[in-house]
Amino acid sequence: MNEDDIIDLMDDKTAVILLPSVLYRSGQLLDIPRLTREAHKKDIVIGFDCSHSVGAVPHYFDDWEVDFALWCSYKYLNGGPGCPAFLYINKRHFQKSPGMTGWFGYVKDKQFDLLSDFEHEKNAGGWQISSPSILSSATLEITLDMINEAGIQNIRDKSKKLTSYLIYLVQEILSDQPYSFAIGSPEDPDKRSGHVALIRNDGLRVTKALKAKGVIPDYRPENLIRIAPVALYNSFHEVWKVVDLLKQIIDEKEFEHFSTERNAIS
Ligand SMILES: *Cc1c(COP(=O)(O)O)cnc(C)c1O
Repeated sequence: MNEDDIIDLMDDKTAVILLPSVLYRSGQLLDIPRLTREAHKKDIVIGFDCSHSVGAVPHYFDDWEVDFALWCSYKYLNGGPGCPAFLYINKRHFQKSPGMTGWFGYVKDKQFDLLSDFEHEKNAGGWQISSPSILSSATLEITLDMINEAGIQNIRDKSKKLTSYLIYLVQEILSDQPYSFAIGSPEDPDKRSGHVALIRNDGLRVTKALKAKGVIPDYRPENLIRIAPVALYNSFHEVWKVVDLLKQIIDEKEFEHFSTERNAIS
């Protein structure tokens, strides 16, 4: 995906743009500052779903002047499914009323005053609807502390090296027959987030065989296997091991022992 093609579609009929920061199949990281600048030239409000970049890539929404952003916390933030989602609203929009309101978005010190007018909190808290799960939030407090301690720029630097190493090994070891893996992610590490998409015929069965060996990839039809070496806790040795396991799965034809039927997710 070329950012120029998105910019060409920004016209005077466009009011709001919501884009993913990362294309979920290829792992391509879009140029958020550039897209934001171009949208604003045409008075278009622009926001990003950063579920696939938060925790892997630094974000500077204030500096980039993004209007809003949202993200889940169960990928690189380690929250797990059902964990709270997050919302960023640029402060120039704090006075605007939320379209969907709930008691938790009321100014915090008057939440139980039961007044008939809705007075929203003048920050992203105004868009909250109801109280978050405390048990899920507790896991986030710990993981966010760990990410801050490691430093998001350090995480990003290591992540780029991990994904580059994975791509290098696949190209060196697994690109020729009978392996026939191809890379479905951008070559430039600055244009990638934290995962690498491998393309392989029979990707579903290869995914199942890898899972049976204790590696959890993610399958996307028809033939895409997403591998996410997470900088916070995965090592370079583990990246090598995954490639070695893939080699073994093809050498020994292990994937042929699995059915071609898809399961609920991945
Ligand atoms: C994972 C993900 C979410 C989170 O979705 P849920 O409804 O919380 O499961 C949202 N947006 C994107 C792009 C995602 O990848």
